[in-house]
Amino acid sequence: MHDADCIFCKIIAGQIPSRKVYEDEEIFAFHDIHPSAPVHFLMVPKVHLPSLVQAQPAQAALLGRMLLLAPQLAQEQGCAPYPEGGCRLMINTGTQGGQEVDHLHVHVLAGPRP
Ligand code: 5GP
Ligand code: ZN
Repeated sequence: MHDADCIFCKIIAGQIPSRKVYEDEEIFAFHDIHPSAPVHFLMVPKVHLPSLVQAQPAQAALLGRMLLLAPQLAQEQGCAPYPEGGCRLMINTGTQGGQEVDHLHVHVLAGPRP
């Protein structure tokens, strides 16, 4: 369920501090430490999944819930409403996919583009 060496598992457990955006029994969301947009937070499943590749059909509802929640949380964090505002979701997967932390996470970015 959890990986003792995983930085995001430690954030979920409160062992590493973070600025929490949202939490329920399955999902945790927190601000990215190096934001690349006016709104930039990460949504993670509480269960340790290294990437989207390891996600199983049994986790389809969880992944779907994360996608549905993302624009709601973005708006709570200051994202302007669709269609003028809106947000960008990104799931980096694997080294060439730009993934640096091996715990599945959805980047949610919003706010005026530079
Ligand atoms: P990736 O490149 O794996 O898709 O993105 C990892 C993200 O995690 C990066 O945007 C990075 O800034 C963020 N990150 C890495 N370590 C920490 C941390 O300790 N706390 C927080 N809040 N974000 C982190
Ligand atoms: Zn983890």
